[in-house]
Amino acid sequence: MRLSLSSLLVTITVFHYAAANPLEAVELKRDELILCCVDPVQKVPDSSHEGPPSKKARLSRTDTMALEGPEESQGGRSARKSKKADSNPKTFLPRVNSLWKVGAHVSAAGGVENAVTKAASIGANAFALFLKSQRKWTSPALTNDSIASFKEKMTEHNYTSDVVLPHGSYLINLGNPDLEKRQKSYDCFIDDLKRCELLGLKYYNFHPGSTVGSTTKEKCISHIAECLNRAHRETTSIVTVIENMAGAGNIIGGDFADIKGIIDQVDDKSRVGVCLDTCHSFAAGYDLRTKEAWDDMMKQFDEIVGISYLCGMHLNDSKTGLGSHRDRHENIGLGHLGLSSFRNLMNDERVQNIPLILETPNFEAPMELWAKEIAVLQQLSTSVMESKENRDMIQSIIGEASTDEDLVDVIKSAVKAAEGSKPKKASAAKKGGKKGGKRKRDEDRDEDEDETEEED
Ligand SMILES: [Zn+2]
Ligand SMILES: [Zn+2]
Repeated sequence: MRLSLSSLLVTITVFHYAAANPLEAVELKRDELILCCVDPVQKVPDSSHEGPPSKKARLSRTDTMALEGPEESQGGRSARKSKKADSNPKTFLPRVNSLWKVGAHVSAAGGVENAVTKAASIGANAFALFLKSQRKWTSPALTNDSIASFKEKMTEHNYTSDVVLPHGSYLINLGNPDLEKRQKSYDCFIDDLKRCELLGLKYYNFHPGSTVGSTTKEKCISHIAECLNRAHRETTSIVTVIENMAGAGNIIGGDFADIKGIIDQVDDKSRVGVCLDTCHSFAAGYDLRTKEAWDDMMKQFDEIVGISYLCGMHLNDSKTGLGSHRDRHENIGLGHLGLSSFRNLMNDERVQNIPLILETPNFEAPMELWAKEIAVLQQLSTSVMESKENRDMIQSIIGEASTDEDLVDVIKSAVKAAEGSKPKKASAAKKGGKKGGKRKRDEDRDEDEDETEEED
């Protein structure tokens, strides 16, 4: 199936993408902020309709069109647009038939059900979402309508619960030595888990926690495991998925041994899993760039934790080098990991049939950029490319790129187009205050709080 320009334009016209979480200075105490991460501003400027109808029959790396329509707030007009988009799934990008379930962390602005449609629109075989505002301790409950709509859309777009990897609130620190603060985190955590169960989801991904500099690693790990045991008793089926971290400062989860330490103390091992983030792994010192290095990392993971616990991965390139302990996500192929790391991943049977989620910078045209990153990743898989149908689908999204250089160019061009579509007066700078300006916090998602750099 090829996406014609006219249908693409329909997509452009009907799609709404609300800002999930405007950058706001988070006023929290140091230890509460410790796990607070950066989230992109997912805004699309009104000028994103650029690109008049041309003779091009399909997207290519020279295209500069955004797949997104004008950005609006979560108001009525955008909601209507969203509905319109739902009613016409034929305008969505094709979804490659692949055992590597690549998708992205999409916005759930306007309701969790919208995340399903957004994932479908970019040809994602999997997706992640926040179940509520990731920067607030409490949020309104899911409505029955929203739950029903989410389930309907899951069926409509052929997603099963095992390709969905919801991400927990950044505020949660189950390892906080302060009992009151740990309880506050636990309350937020259990609320998330219950939301997952209401939505019929299987997995829930969270950051393990931090010592906040006032307890030992061992005690922190025990606190986390105790919280998990308690949460497993209070819920029925959800699998709590521990994410590995970049290993900055007091944060638990940089070493695979930390993850093993938690799992060892979990009573019901069937209720716990692990998500490996490629950027975090690399920053923590695990190399993935050569086939040998990749296999060695997987071997270490298997020996220390156990491959059977692997429930998902986050696919992010890294802006910083091996062992930097700094968590800076980069677009696929443009960072220190490079395409070779992802080629290793996309040809490894051990990571088939689990959600593989992009958390790469999306600037303000997330849908186009992620759609291209997904297509590039699928193209790296030898077995995916054996199918002519798959090859045609991928070509319809990224053109005839074949060499690594071509594929990197596809991403570079998409990034450039996305950057170019930013509004002149970047709202991020205004809303993000000094943090926004300090280190482009609007660009990256899901980063560890870097204790060595963060002063406020
Ligand atoms: Zn991640
Ligand atoms: Zn994360």
